[in-house]
Amino acid sequence: MATAYYSISSEDREVHHNKTNCPDGKRIKPENRRYGTDGRPLCKECPKVSY
Ligand SMILES: [Zn+2]
Repeated sequence: MATAYYSISSEDREVHHNKTNCPDGKRIKPENRRYGTDGRPLCKECPKVSY
């Protein structure tokens, strides 16, 4: 089951991720990571990764 998450840091794009292996999502620092979508659009990289 995919869990949506996003970053509260202004250094990261205002999107949410739903793949743990997303290259952009993996760059989010743990202290900036929050669960949910925050109403943001889905990251463009997430559909490209398999999990
Ligand atoms: Zn992503």
